[in-house]
Amino acid sequence: MIANQGTADAMMKELERGFTGQLLAPQDPGYDDARKVYNAMIDRRPALIARCADARDVARTIGFARTHDLPLAVRGGGHSGPGLGICDDGVVAELSLLNEITVNPETLTARVGGGCTWGQIDRATHAHGLTTPSGFISTTGVGGLTLGGGIGYLTRRYGLTIDNLLGADLVLADGTLVRASAEEHPDLFWAIRGGGGNFGVVTSFQFALHPVSTVLAGPTFWPLEQTEQVMRAYREFIPAAPRELNGFLALLTVPPAPPFPEELHLRKVCGIVWCYDGPADQAPGVLAPMLEVAEPLLHTVGPMPYPEFQSMFDALYPPGLQWYWRADFVRDISDEAIDRHAEFGARLPTLHSTMHLYPIDGAAHDVGAAETAFSYRDANWAQVIVGVDPDPANADAIRQWTVDYWDATHPYSAGGAYVNFLMHEGQDRVRASYRDNYKRLTEIKAAYDPDNVFHINQNIAPQA
Ligand SMILES: Cc1cc2nc3c(=O)[nH]c(=O)nc-3n(C[C@H](O)[C@H](O)[C@H](O)COP(=O)(O)OP(=O)(O)OC[C@H]3O[C@@H](n4cnc5c(N)ncnc54)[C@H](O)[C@@H]3O)c2cc1C
Repeated sequence: MIANQGTADAMMKELERGFTGQLLAPQDPGYDDARKVYNAMIDRRPALIARCADARDVARTIGFARTHDLPLAVRGGGHSGPGLGICDDGVVAELSLLNEITVNPETLTARVGGGCTWGQIDRATHAHGLTTPSGFISTTGVGGLTLGGGIGYLTRRYGLTIDNLLGADLVLADGTLVRASAEEHPDLFWAIRGGGGNFGVVTSFQFALHPVSTVLAGPTFWPLEQTEQVMRAYREFIPAAPRELNGFLALLTVPPAPPFPEELHLRKVCGIVWCYDGPADQAPGVLAPMLEVAEPLLHTVGPMPYPEFQSMFDALYPPGLQWYWRADFVRDISDEAIDRHAEFGARLPTLHSTMHLYPIDGAAHDVGAAETAFSYRDANWAQVIVGVDPDPANADAIRQWTVDYWDATHPYSAGGAYVNFLMHEGQDRVRASYRDNYKRLTEIKAAYDPDNVFHINQNIAPQA
């Protein structure tokens, strides 16, 4: 906490020397915009936002926070549900200026700045007919998503985002700049593949690219009353499906807007959102078993440039909504769990609220549980229940629905959750999400950040 304005001004002057980015204090124009994060439930007022232009700015910001004993938050895309990219009364290292992207189509690699969003990366790689696996929405930051694991449309085909990470440049807690890869700081490289922002600030990531340009994509919707039939078929279908196919299951309310037909607007449905990256003529045969389960209300799967598909949900979920979520990893979808899903799906509290089951089998299972910090390689789905609404007056209602739904389905889960879908749920939940990898993470944390400078995250405390 900074004592008074005079102290704040003096500190600001100190950091300004040699800082090439932009510094924003509470009295500056632009401060209020800069402190906003994606989840409008989060309203925090840092003492200073340091918009870093390069790794040296990042090192200076870390050093400044340490010297003055101020909390340090690191902000990538600002998408964290619990608002881990911002803090009260501390310093924020804001990375949006670290957005340089270099694509090398010969080596099938891309180097991207640690503050990029996935939309920026997708556009740059798509120009070469290439991509790297990311998530399901394009406004998410590469930083938080990658460091937690990265689950998306191409997970079954090419693995998690971390399975495509070749290396990263980081500024450590003591201000030094290091490269982590299989050859350099391999322990650090292991830890940042799932361990979140606990170990340093990543200023650039290097990814492997794959030839993905146009995919066959779109949703199938069934009446909500057929949730049980659809989910029973889906739990058998996905693990047996070719890796070229991804389909996440959703319980949702059909948005009242094109391209959805008017007669479906605001109807609650059970849906699967497909993404197929195999031979086009084989797609109908691959999808046929699911379409035979029950007569769909809608089935619109067609060719789409990958970045367009990747940003299909951006308009439905703009920044500034209220978000509350709860999550679990799921190994098998039990009959009992399906009953609970049908029950809570019928009580979706708002248009934007939903439940998703993201497949994490296929190529994500090719990597062993101890090969990266992300330990749940034996789970088949990452489940997330999200209460979402634009109106702050509905915040309690969406939170309550989410918590009740989670309480009802958690007993049928694998135990832990994807760290990027956790709220502030305490150390036991973080530990449960890393299982046997937790101890090694605490040792690596002790080696690279013994004072826990990077603690505004799903925190791994350094081993004593
Ligand atoms: C609408 C929405 C859709 C989502 N969809 C997916 C999805 O499809 N797949 C998926 O896997 N996840 C998804 N997520 C979850 C997402 O991965 C996490 O919220 C993630 O933390 C967001 O990263 P960010 O950089 O945008 O967030 P921020 O809030 O900026 O940061 C989150 C955490 O990461 C740290 N961090 C960020 N950048 C860096 C960096 N460069 N170096 C060090 N630490 C850093 C921060 O300090 C903080 O602790 C989604 C989230 C939302 C809100």
